[in-house]
Amino acid sequence: MKVLIVFAHPEPHSLSAALRDVAIRELETAGHEVRVSDLYAMNWKAQVDRADFPALTEDRLMPAAASKHAFATGTLTDDVKAEIDKLLWADLLILHFPLWWYAMPAILKGWVDRVYAYGFAYGVGEHSDTRWGDRFGEGTLAGKRAMLIVTAGGWEEHYSPRGVNGPIDDLLFPITHNILYYPGFDVLPSFVTYSTDRFDDARFEAAAEALRQRMRDVETTAPIPYRKQNGGDYVIPTMQLKPGLEAPGTSGFALHRRG
Ligand code: FAD
Repeated sequence: MKVLIVFAHPEPHSLSAALRDVAIRELETAGHEVRVSDLYAMNWKAQVDRADFPALTEDRLMPAAASKHAFATGTLTDDVKAEIDKLLWADLLILHFPLWWYAMPAILKGWVDRVYAYGFAYGVGEHSDTRWGDRFGEGTLAGKRAMLIVTAGGWEEHYSPRGVNGPIDDLLFPITHNILYYPGFDVLPSFVTYSTDRFDDARFEAAAEALRQRMRDVETTAPIPYRKQNGGDYVIPTMQLKPGLEAPGTSGFALHRRG
């Protein structure tokens, strides 16, 4: 497989960087080809602004419209075009980051904001009263796999179904479902390491071995069974899950998984 790791940590000697290198070694040992977008090392520009659209002639910047025009006319900036090319190249995308305020670091969110151009990651396919685009299971990146590698300072129990932080799968849902599944990726379960601020060599080796196993299994791991938007489970155009499809007692984000 061709694997793209988009990595977001400012410190080359961080725990996250050490885990990234474990993942790379395991993937390469298995014969996969790996490329890394190390966002801090690249000095990645995180904010969307007028400089992203050098061909824009209007006085007023409307980011989505500008993105649509720039993608259609090939006038996105070179850094964004390069990341789009990497996404098209890859069979597997890994977003790797420390959990900061229950979300991805701003530099990685800025990668999504800028690289996910209109016409590439969204605004794809027919939009009408009977079809709401190719998204959530369909889209430009359909047929590819994606997953998260995340380090969290909090305990695993803090992220359990009754944990005060909220369940980890719910906290990551805006990324796994709404950023990765949206343009078509099959999304593998996230690899999350907890209590990371109290790491020692023994805990590192345990985490590294669990990560090696996940990397060995990337081609065969079953994706999270999210429901396809256009698979008949949702009312179009309100995009609500049809009644009665969920198991009794299911609520919240879990509604959007089959079974
Ligand atoms: P590092 O800081 O690099 O290292 C962590 C520990 O691992 C250190 O003790 C270090 O000595 C050790 N270590 C590093 N490398 C190795 C190695 N190779 N072998 C053995 N040990 C090693 N946590 C949450 O749970 N929820 C949050 O919402 C949250 N928000 C945060 C917001 C901010 C702005 C920040 C800075 C932190 C936040 N945290 C949060 C904590 C954060 O998730 C952890 O600090 C982070 O995941 C640790 O990963 P790291 O790569 O930065 O580790």
